Formats: sequence, structure tokens, C-alpha cells
Amino acid sequence: MRLAAFPLILALSLSDCTAVRQQLGLALISEETELDLGRKLAAQVEKQEKPLADQRVQAYVRQVVAPIAQQSLQDRPGVEYKVTVIDDPKQVNAFAIPGGFIYVYSGLIKAAQNEAELAGVLAHELGHVVGRHSANQMAAQYGIELLTQLALGEEAGQLGEMAASLAGAGALARFSRDDEREADEYGFNYLAACGYDPRGLLTFFTKLDQLEKSRPSDLEHLFASHPPTPERIERIEKMITKAGVSGGKLEKDKFLRETASLRK
Ligand code: ZN
Repeated sequence: MRLAAFPLILALSLSDCTAVRQQLGLALISEETELDLGRKLAAQVEKQEKPLADQRVQAYVRQVVAPIAQQSLQDRPGVEYKVTVIDDPKQVNAFAIPGGFIYVYSGLIKAAQNEAELAGVLAHELGHVVGRHSANQMAAQYGIELLTQLALGEEAGQLGEMAASLAGAGALARFSRDDEREADEYGFNYLAACGYDPRGLLTFFTKLDQLEKSRPSDLEHLFASHPPTPERIERIEKMITKAGVSGGKLEKDKFLRETASLRK
């Protein structure tokens, strides 16, 4: 009997595990609480960090995320994504907070060389929202009771501290390796489904890994909340091989044109 059960366990696909994790998260924090908390944290993040004034770049990034968001609704319906570029050329980072609020630093956009790389990072962040990683992580860190109070507008003093732990040079929040794996897998799928060359994710992470080794002094924070480890790079390479995806759009010219103001 035991022997017979073993292949069954092995046969459980990733999506089953993911669904279980998503359900567990949902049991801890309701969608409504997550969204209320997300809205309050977003207001705090936007007070502490400086949203980029250039509306052309903001609109461009929103336009890039729209089809990716559409893809992600298959895995987690009902989320309304809001992406904001933060003005900080020294931060090569992006992060997601509960409820579908995504932030990307201008330094990350400057470090990317084409739209496929930017789309890859955004798809990865959406993967964290689909997996409810921030909400689950915050529940583990702060407890459900405090998060519920915050969502209701109580204990507002804590919000500043929480937002600071998510954003900026002092960011402490790190996802687990399982969360990173899951976000990479969602991200990879969305990127490919949108017709991008999924190597965008690979080339960007490889570049960050190299940048990290050379540690340029003008970069303070290199994708700190999700470090691009060699293990992750290798896994993405395997995903590309397994999916048999060859090519796809990079949109280099469009990307450089739409984000030119950041390179001046
Ligand atoms: Zn991540």
C-alpha cells in the first residue's frame, strides 16, 4: 500500500501545491482584509517614497503590465493591479504589497535593456500577488489580529513601520525560496503567454547576479527582496528548455524610446 501511494504523491503537480497554499492564505486573511490593508499600505508607501512625476513612463509601465495582469486572472481572479514607478535611480528593485499594488523603481527600469526584461520582473511580482505571498508573510510576521486591526483603520501608527520594511533602502521583507520559485513559475508562464521571449527574465536576473558580484557603489539595493541567485537562474533556464519556447518579442526599441527620460 505504501509503495503504491508513493508515485501518487510524486504525481501531485505544482499547481496543486500552489492551490493549497493559496487556500491556506485565504483561510488566514480574507480577500477584503487583504485589499483594505493593501490600500492603507499603498498610501503609506506613496508618502514615504516619491512616485515618478513623468506620466509617460508611468503610462508605459501600466500598458506593459495590462496583458500580464489579464493572464494572471486565470490563477487568481478579481485582483485589480495598480503599478506605480518610484523615482529612485539607485534602487534596482520592485516589490508587491497585498491587494495587487506593485511598485517598480526607476533604477530597475534603467538597468533593463528591453521590454521583455521589464515585463519579466512585473510578471514575477504579479506571481507574488497570485500566490498571496505578501499577505501570508505579513500574517506570519505580525499576526492576523494586528493585520485585521490595520485593515479596519486601527493601530495606524504601525503602518509606517510596515511600509518602511517593504520599500526603500531599509527594506527587510524577503520572500521564502518557495515563494520565489512559485513567483518565477507564474512569471515565466505569463511572460510566454504574452508572446515575450521568456529569456527576458533570464537575462535580467543574470545581469543582476553579475552586478551584485561587482557591487557598483551607485547601486544601493539590488533586487534585495528577491535575490537572483544562481539557483534561480538555473531553474529558469530549465523552464525555458522544458517549455521548448524559442524566441518571442523583446521590444527593445520601443522600451528605449518610452523610457528615454530616465537615461538623461
Ligand atoms: Zn520575488
